[in-house]
Amino acid sequence: MRSRRLPFPADPRWIEARFTSHCARCPRIIKPGESAYYFPNSKTIFCDSEDCGKHEARLIEAALFDERMCAA
Ligand SMILES: [Zn+2]
Repeated sequence: MRSRRLPFPADPRWIEARFTSHCARCPRIIKPGESAYYFPNSKTIFCDSEDCGKHEARLIEAALFDERMCAA
């Protein structure tokens, strides 16, 4: 009964956008070369604003931290 993995098969991460895409949360357009937070699992991308990518990144980091604490 070990759940070592997060509910994300592939870890979300900061990437440099290679294509023009729309933020999944706000109307902003992410242009090539801008940093964006990407969920490979759901192919969801968020811009780097506080409410979008940075917010998601904080949630993920908190989840990873909890996981490490539980695994110790
Ligand atoms: Zn956004």
